Amino acid sequence: MDRLLDEPAVQRLSSLYGREVVRVQARAELDLLRRALEAEPGVDLQAEIRDLPERLSRSLVDRLGSSLRRVLNATGIFLHTNLGRSPLPRAVTDLLPELTDAYCDLEYDLASGRRGRRSTRASGLLAAASGAAAGLVVNNNAAAVFLVLSALARGRDVIISRGELVEIGGSFRIPDILETAGARLVEVGTTNRTRVADYERAIGPETALLLKVHPSNYRISGFVEEATAAQLARLGRQRGVPLLVDEGSGLLRPHRAPQLRDHASFQELVAQGCDLVCGSGDKLLGGPQSGLLVGRADLVERCARHPLYRVLRPDRVVFAALEAVLGLHATGERLPLDRMWPESDRPDGRRLESVAAALGAEIVQADAFLGGGAAPEEPIPGRALALPDDDGLLRRLRVGEPPVVGYLREGRLILDLRTVDPIDDTTLIAAVRAARR
Ligand SMILES: *Cc1c(COP(=O)(O)O)cnc(C)c1O
Repeated sequence: MDRLLDEPAVQRLSSLYGREVVRVQARAELDLLRRALEAEPGVDLQAEIRDLPERLSRSLVDRLGSSLRRVLNATGIFLHTNLGRSPLPRAVTDLLPELTDAYCDLEYDLASGRRGRRSTRASGLLAAASGAAAGLVVNNNAAAVFLVLSALARGRDVIISRGELVEIGGSFRIPDILETAGARLVEVGTTNRTRVADYERAIGPETALLLKVHPSNYRISGFVEEATAAQLARLGRQRGVPLLVDEGSGLLRPHRAPQLRDHASFQELVAQGCDLVCGSGDKLLGGPQSGLLVGRADLVERCARHPLYRVLRPDRVVFAALEAVLGLHATGERLPLDRMWPESDRPDGRRLESVAAALGAEIVQADAFLGGGAAPEEPIPGRALALPDDDGLLRRLRVGEPPVVGYLREGRLILDLRTVDPIDDTTLIAAVRAARR
């Protein structure tokens, strides 16, 4: 037992899980080994002893779960929700230590020495970027929708098209969110066709809100019709009913990519007269998990003053990261998202060729995707690396250090560098070589 606990690998486990927890598990592993020896005296004792630290580590992970790990995402899916959605730009993470290992003026007005508002700067930058009068930040976009419905529509009617009663990602269902917020759902139109007149007919004295939701992760095509945000904003203004658009992706301004051409940004929606627009901070914006809400000052203020805001407000790490990301957007800096269109920036594809040469990989055509519910059917054509999936290379890369996640296509392993930070190229090469050995 003492020798086992003194092994460097086991000491690392002790600092991670605590010495006592490791000791209890180690005792269990030793008991198992003793019993195995009694049942089968011929086992190779030295090999079993060599394996003990590894077996101990596996059983601890099984029981207690492993810690978060840095993963190289070579799937070509930029917003992979299972892999943490958007990575923060390095320029942003470089700034974080200074704001997180000390006190900061999170809710303090340094000029007057009085209490300040938590979200002033991030909200201001958000409003400025989208051309709205006011902004507010909460923990995620589901929280933003929930807060607006609770603050503006509790006990009253919310009108939404039957074509937009969607489920998005892990169990975010629009009808359920409405019900939980205490609002009454008034469905109009049909799954494939809804017109402005359908909304108009449904407006009554109990109507609190018109709601338009970007369907994000699915498309219906063929015989379809929907009321545009601009049409609904006009109708809402005529009838004195505000319109909330759940844009979803946090695209603040139009993006040059053809895959995003049809995706209306915050800026465009605000310009079209939408009263409130909300989206995620960790999708196309490339920020931390957060919910972004912009719009009319009086409506945003009602949300900020609602008791639920206190429950849904983010912490200072989120504000620090979000402010920095919004700052990069404002100065037109290259963001992780822009890696998805590398051909226009590096017509020679030198990066891909040098990694391919280092690995003896073939360069093949491959589609990448934005993921995270943005432009789900719009492939981003380009090139990726292909390797034979010998001896389950895909799986061995996944359990290596650092883990590398690729995908199989026609029996070959595809590694798409568009979702890999170029700074990680040497690590990726080393990981593939190690997994092949
Ligand atoms: C992603 C998405 C959500 C959920 O956003 P979270 O930030 O994950 O809470 C809600 N609505 C739409 C339209 C989305 O695309």
